[in-house]
Amino acid sequence: MNPRSLLERYNIQPKKSLGQNFLHDPGVLDKIAAAAELTPADAVLEIGPGTGALTERLAAAAGRVVAVETDARLQPLLAERLASCPHVEVVYADILAVDVPALMGPAPYIVVANLPYYITSAILRHLLEAPRRPRRLVLTVQQEVAERIMAAPGDLSLLAVSVQFYGQPRTVMHIKPAAFWPRPDVDSAVLRIDVYDRPPVDVPDERAFFRVVRAGFSQKRKQLRNALGAGLGLGGEAAAALLTRAGVDPRRRAETMTLAEWAALARAAAEGGL
Ligand code: SAM
Repeated sequence: MNPRSLLERYNIQPKKSLGQNFLHDPGVLDKIAAAAELTPADAVLEIGPGTGALTERLAAAAGRVVAVETDARLQPLLAERLASCPHVEVVYADILAVDVPALMGPAPYIVVANLPYYITSAILRHLLEAPRRPRRLVLTVQQEVAERIMAAPGDLSLLAVSVQFYGQPRTVMHIKPAAFWPRPDVDSAVLRIDVYDRPPVDVPDERAFFRVVRAGFSQKRKQLRNALGAGLGLGGEAAAALLTRAGVDPRRRAETMTLAEWAALARAAAEGGL
């Protein structure tokens, strides 16, 4: 049954404030599930099961599915739809308030989700900065966000560096608004992120790395000497000296920096006791 009729049956109006645009195109749902390459040995975390259309497909392929949904109005609908799937557990909570490693347990897990777009970056941080990260993520996001995440040096943002530090993103497919009900105002894309076992660059530690990256992006379009000087509380001169020690021209801008250059900068800062 399509999401519109299903929600009407349970007398539920979709909430825009919760990013409730439900996918009804079976071909698209199949492709998303296939992109996750699930086996019966896999545990899956789904964020926002909604009406359960994707959940059903995940349940058909994986050994365990944990779905976290913030909207408790969906409880009767999901209970009925997933009644024949004892290996699916639905948790009614805000994903950002959930301790994901504790919920998923010690075994590796995979995330598959048509994300609520209003908290895409926060969810990515919540999952990737956790002490135990997912092995792989297959995420439907706004097309524009997918492009930002996939960007190359010259167009990098804090979001792109944060994702690319933890894993390799690639685009699986584009989705037009017509595949959803209600239709969103924007195009969407499915991203698959394969998470690295260890970071692709040599950093003193993650916190030190992200401290310099955040400082570098703290002032839009400014030269790095100014952004880092302000962001690290060093002043321009000391920031320029630090950048030069790391082999980076102090007049460069944050969006042009490669991951390896950010790592060199983090090492220089650590060596300088910063
Ligand atoms: N998976 C369904 C589908 O593909 O049709 C629904 C996807 S819809 C874009 C996003 C879902 O995330 C909604 O069911 C919404 O209620 C849920 N959601 C929104 N905010 C959430 C949060 N903070 N934690 C968990 N789920 C959330």
